[in-house]
Amino acid sequence: MKKVRAEIVLKGVVQGVGFRPFVHRLAQEHKLTGFVRNSSDGVTVFAEGERESIDLFFESISKEAPPLAIIQDRSLKLCKPEGSKEFRIKESKGGKDKSAVPPPDVSICDSCLKELFDHNDRRYRYPFINCTSCGPRFTIIKNLPFDRAYTTMNEFKMCSECNKEYNEITDRRYHIQTNACEKCGPEVSFIKDEETIGQGESAIKLASECLKNGEIVVVKGAGGFHFMSDAENENMAERIRTFKGRKFKPIAVMSYSLSDIKKYAWVSEEEERLLTSPERPIVLLRKKEPFLLANSIAPFNQYIGVMLPYLPIHYLLLHDSGLLAIVDTSGNLKGEPLIYRNDEALKKLSSMTRYFLIHNRDIHIRCDDSVVKMVSGLPMSFRRARGYVPLPIKLSKTTEPILATGGEIKNTFCITRKNLAFLSQHIGDIKNLDVYEFYKETIEHFKYIFKTEPEIIAYDLHPEYLSTNFVKELTTWNSHLTTIGIQHHHAHIASCMAENGVEGEVIGIAFDGTGYGTDGNVWGGEFFVGGYNGFKRTHHLKYIPLPGGDQAAHQPWRMAVSYLAQAFGEEALRFTKRWSRSDFIYSMIKKGINCPLASSMGRLFDAVSSLLGFCDINTYEGEAAVRLENQCHNAKAVPYNYKIDGSEIDVSPMIREIMLKGEGVDKIAQRFHLTIVDIILEVCKELRKEYGIGRVVLSGGVFQNKIIIEKATELLRRSKFNVFTHLRVPPNDGGLSLGQVAIAQYRIDN
Ligand code: ZN
Ligand code: ZN
Ligand code: FE
Repeated sequence: MKKVRAEIVLKGVVQGVGFRPFVHRLAQEHKLTGFVRNSSDGVTVFAEGERESIDLFFESISKEAPPLAIIQDRSLKLCKPEGSKEFRIKESKGGKDKSAVPPPDVSICDSCLKELFDHNDRRYRYPFINCTSCGPRFTIIKNLPFDRAYTTMNEFKMCSECNKEYNEITDRRYHIQTNACEKCGPEVSFIKDEETIGQGESAIKLASECLKNGEIVVVKGAGGFHFMSDAENENMAERIRTFKGRKFKPIAVMSYSLSDIKKYAWVSEEEERLLTSPERPIVLLRKKEPFLLANSIAPFNQYIGVMLPYLPIHYLLLHDSGLLAIVDTSGNLKGEPLIYRNDEALKKLSSMTRYFLIHNRDIHIRCDDSVVKMVSGLPMSFRRARGYVPLPIKLSKTTEPILATGGEIKNTFCITRKNLAFLSQHIGDIKNLDVYEFYKETIEHFKYIFKTEPEIIAYDLHPEYLSTNFVKELTTWNSHLTTIGIQHHHAHIASCMAENGVEGEVIGIAFDGTGYGTDGNVWGGEFFVGGYNGFKRTHHLKYIPLPGGDQAAHQPWRMAVSYLAQAFGEEALRFTKRWSRSDFIYSMIKKGINCPLASSMGRLFDAVSSLLGFCDINTYEGEAAVRLENQCHNAKAVPYNYKIDGSEIDVSPMIREIMLKGEGVDKIAQRFHLTIVDIILEVCKELRKEYGIGRVVLSGGVFQNKIIIEKATELLRRSKFNVFTHLRVPPNDGGLSLGQVAIAQYRIDN
């Protein structure tokens, strides 16, 4: 039979996931000759053989691809046979079309875990064991294609045994770029009082002893340094929280196994799947009472952030220390970015502990843990980072590259290439100068690895956001850039639409703490009708003064006074005795001094949380709302009254009832949540009647509230609305940049 030759191009996540070895094996099975190689577009295969075999081979590539691969595009083109004799893996070649996508870091796989604890294996207890289906990727890649030479593994030269595996087609480490063993790979060291006192196995032993004895150990992981300590030890957990400047903000824990986790938290089947997935996010689980771990891990919270080990070193430390759980939280000072360099860790963290477990493989780009919570039986991302970044989100159209700079807190940015949106890892609150530097560095890194230089820049309209300031900086030096300012809540809605592939007109509900409105007021309790190309603001929470502006966001009691004033006028002072400075705040409100106006839903949650005595001061963003939500126990209750007056939603009838009726705080909390859900439902019904739109999009940080999102979705669906919510992209400001991208795509086209 006549032989043909085909050029096959595969794009997507096809590098660093064992793709070429897989193609090699498959080509041999189908008796084909030719070669496979990485290129900047992905993977290119030249295969020669009978036409039928080539077709089968092409189909099998998609069907049997390695578990971590994602093929986003494939093509086959016939060309002239060259009479090749064998099938080979060729060295990489840079192509013109740069479409490769680096894979995220994924947790140690089952096969490697087995070897890690197998006495007879040559990698027994080697903390950097990995293979084609597991290990670090995103955090060590300096450039693409994904070849060892372009990673921080470049420092380490494979020994003869590793090299043999690398070249042996039947070996599961065939052509793995990160191959290493004790002889040739990275090594851990244990440092006490700035002196190295153990390396390799002895370092691990010393670190686990320390953990067992109740000490805090700083451990270098994949994306940065982490603090670890015995999670049953109240003092140490408290100390870590204090050091990080987290008064009440919860910290995460890690356990060796699911059965250990089940001793202190409730785990559903879906949560089990999430915990054991290769992404290994922190999962927010409901605590079991009485709670076995230190209370200071997640004070005033029904939930606790839990993860299973994702690095070999985690397994070793948990195994050797025998602890039920360890605190595992990112190693940074308050508001600062994750620390990722050895020298910096020793300099900045030595006042907190004498013990460090470090290693000599560099982290090229830092990456935090991801946080996920089950909502209506589906995993909703609260923070998107390790395990998920930089996998792209598919957009509905292809445009010129865009850079969207995101918001200010929980910042992420987004860069596009054709129809793919690459959302960055969680960057943090860029008001901090070091975080701002990290932000700028990461933007440069993304541009470099994705080989894209966007000339269209989308940003938030807030004049004081540093992400907006960054755009000013950019345009000062590059006058040819096109800049597109986008309203905060419009971006929230567009983000949820883009994630769900929704086009056309929708009812958009954006509830959050703060966003700059087009009238210069602070928005955050918004109902829109519209789509990517524009919106009409149909309803919003009635404006309320924010006494002291930004201070009101940190001090919920100020909002309590403001809502009392709105509901009771002069009478308000009857209820404000509890707060010593309430008279002063009241007069500020009356005279309108330093009282910007807000329609923010987040501030309403703050006010009610403070009125009920749960939280007068926010020690972290959203604390008052979290504590209010935690007070709900799913008791039967009915919503309060409120008034819809034209476009304004007036909740003062509710505030009056809360204050005058004398119900228990748990019941009030429950009724408050149901009132917000009722407002959503009623306004949506009105809008459907008026505009004939039945699709509802829910976005903004308030929709992290499990009761609000679950109840609203349930009731809207029962009333035959088509409801879209976030899953892969956070509903909070971490998702903003995706929405900015989606809107900018429309603005440049029209
Ligand atoms: Zn593995
Ligand atoms: Zn080796
Ligand atoms: Fe927001």
